[in-house]
Amino acid sequence: MSHSEFSDATKVIKTTTKPDPATGALNTPIQLSSTFVQPDLDHFGKYDYTRSGNPTRDVLEDSIAALEHGTRGFAFATGMAAISTAFLTLHQGDHVIVTKDVYGGTFRLVTQILPNYGIDYTFVDCGDKTALEAAFKPNTKVVYIETPSNPTLKVTAIRQVVTVAHAHDALVFADNTFMTPIFQKPLDLGADLVLHSGTKFLAGHSDILAGLIVTKTKKLGDAVYFIQNAMGATLGISDCWLLLRGIKTLGVRVKAEADSALTLAKWFQEQPLVTKVNYPGLVGFDGHDVQFSQATSGGAVLSFDVGSEDNVRRLVQDLKIPVFSVSLGAVETILSYPPKMSHAEMSAEERHACGISDGLLRLSVGVEDVDDLKADFAQAFAKIEREQPTH
Ligand SMILES: *Cc1c(COP(=O)(O)O)cnc(C)c1O
Repeated sequence: MSHSEFSDATKVIKTTTKPDPATGALNTPIQLSSTFVQPDLDHFGKYDYTRSGNPTRDVLEDSIAALEHGTRGFAFATGMAAISTAFLTLHQGDHVIVTKDVYGGTFRLVTQILPNYGIDYTFVDCGDKTALEAAFKPNTKVVYIETPSNPTLKVTAIRQVVTVAHAHDALVFADNTFMTPIFQKPLDLGADLVLHSGTKFLAGHSDILAGLIVTKTKKLGDAVYFIQNAMGATLGISDCWLLLRGIKTLGVRVKAEADSALTLAKWFQEQPLVTKVNYPGLVGFDGHDVQFSQATSGGAVLSFDVGSEDNVRRLVQDLKIPVFSVSLGAVETILSYPPKMSHAEMSAEERHACGISDGLLRLSVGVEDVDDLKADFAQAFAKIEREQPTH
């Protein structure tokens, strides 16, 4: 049986566990070596210098390629290093279409760095087919999407974007950080390149920063490899090992977290204090049907509105389990406040226009007991309600 025949639950173990042929050590050795000894003047081994290739990094890169059904994987120092590398496959004079509500760091890269190199951009709601069609220019080379989006969990139909982009000879790059390959495989839906902030679900423990790319074709893989080696933003070898360790439990973690996210989303809907719940797993949520046509779960991230910044303040004070911080995708439940964190650079008007209201909180559900989480929110909501006249 080859790895490609295994299901993901098996693959996360089999692709990350490569015993050391020299010693039989079960785990992939951490090959902390910048350089590799060559046999003689006329023969060179597979490895020469770790920026160009390293056995530990190879196992990680092959693992993510197998999980995403791609031809080749690449590991970078951060998610942004991976995203920057993907954009550097473009050339001066090219144009990119980027979905609205893209990750803040990607927005910054596209608007403040790419133009310096003669790469032009248009932001568009890629879920709106007419608007997407209208955004193409003769020099459009890439459509960049992220679905579901952050923090309103807007779902973009990947197949539809692929059809439109390919009809215009443009490639589709998809940031799959929120879903992970366990729930969504963009390459199977026609995308050409998949990106991850490995910092989030793949590493899963709020410890390391990492980024990954998987390409569908060898040609695009060769282009990414050239830039990875030339630019040198590769992932450190110890962190490669930690990311391999994280991926081993990816399957069980994201499933448990997504189950709890669904339970909490349904429960939030019943709470008088909560005015809105954004979660693609909810029947009746705008993107629910598209979500389940391209992914197998609503994921582990949701957002909900508690009416006002004042209520947000009290909630953050009174909750005992969630950690209040940026980031997501960890074993800990993480609560964040987009207006003052990920989307602080937007004006209040801009935020409101894209659904980021003053009472909106984002919740990345961890592996704690869901009843404990519910009880914690219940006690915090009750405190706020006791102190407030009901209307
Ligand atoms: C965090 C994140 C990134 C950036 O990754 P870093 O590892 O922080 O550089 C990119 N895209 C999404 C969706 C993210 O959540």
